[in-house]
Amino acid sequence: MTIIPDQPLHEAALARPLLGDGAMGTQLMLAGLEQGSCGEAWNLARPDRVLAIQRRYAEAGSDCILTNTFGGSRIMLTRHGHPDDVAAINRAGVEIARQAFNGRRGFVIGDIGPFGGLLEPYGDFTETQVRAAFVEQAAALVAAGADAIIIETQTSLEELGLGICAAREAGARTIIGSMAYDVTLDGSTFRTMMGIDPERAAEFMEEQGAHIIALNCGTGMDMPHALAAVERYRRASSLPVMVQPNAGQPKLVNMKVVYDETPEQMVHGVAPLLAAGANIVGACCGSTPDHIRAFRQAMDEYLERR
Ligand SMILES: [Zn+2]
Repeated sequence: MTIIPDQPLHEAALARPLLGDGAMGTQLMLAGLEQGSCGEAWNLARPDRVLAIQRRYAEAGSDCILTNTFGGSRIMLTRHGHPDDVAAINRAGVEIARQAFNGRRGFVIGDIGPFGGLLEPYGDFTETQVRAAFVEQAAALVAAGADAIIIETQTSLEELGLGICAAREAGARTIIGSMAYDVTLDGSTFRTMMGIDPERAAEFMEEQGAHIIALNCGTGMDMPHALAAVERYRRASSLPVMVQPNAGQPKLVNMKVVYDETPEQMVHGVAPLLAAGANIVGACCGSTPDHIRAFRQAMDEYLERR
């Protein structure tokens, strides 16, 4: 690995494409977490299981690992009955991800997911409440030593803006904004649930001071659609691009949500993403350490050919 120590993530990713990690939520379920219960609480209650998952990603070759703090804001943790553990859960999340690298140099990306509701006037959360929750979470992640903050699976610019602002306030070295796009019914394009297209998102993130523009998750956003999103981001902005698609579409099998795109299927999309200028490539829901290992090989082969 040629990562220069202490280089910020957004600079390292420009110098050489980096490998992200794979899913956390679906891996936690495989490790015994019940659907709908609080995966972030495992940072305190079952750190061994969280570490085991992240260590498999590190061993598969991930250069960047997201902390297990997707639902680690006060609003989400209060909903799950853990309002007193916000700081501890986020701190432990950073420590576990760091430990997963086992001494190897890697980037710990502090993960902030959606607060799980709607802002006024559509819902009943005030901007002040959401801002405070994001500021608190971002501060805890940065204080624990996160190299970057990602505001991910975002669909509205209002919420994304509050997250980026919180990360800035916390002094994050690298700020990543990541949108979840849905392919439209006629299949002609994709935008977020709130109607935001990639060009608008890229322009907004640049204005707000993000260092990396990203996409993750979404509906119907397979590797070819992720490629189209990267191309649109590249045309709209000069910031580095991160991409983390799901392992296919979720299907309900025996009352369980299953993602069935195999590493062999997904890995074909890696070289085209890199050729289009993606700077960090990982995967979202349903992906596994096997997917990431296949991505590592494809990325290394691509870099050797270059
Ligand atoms: Zn996802």
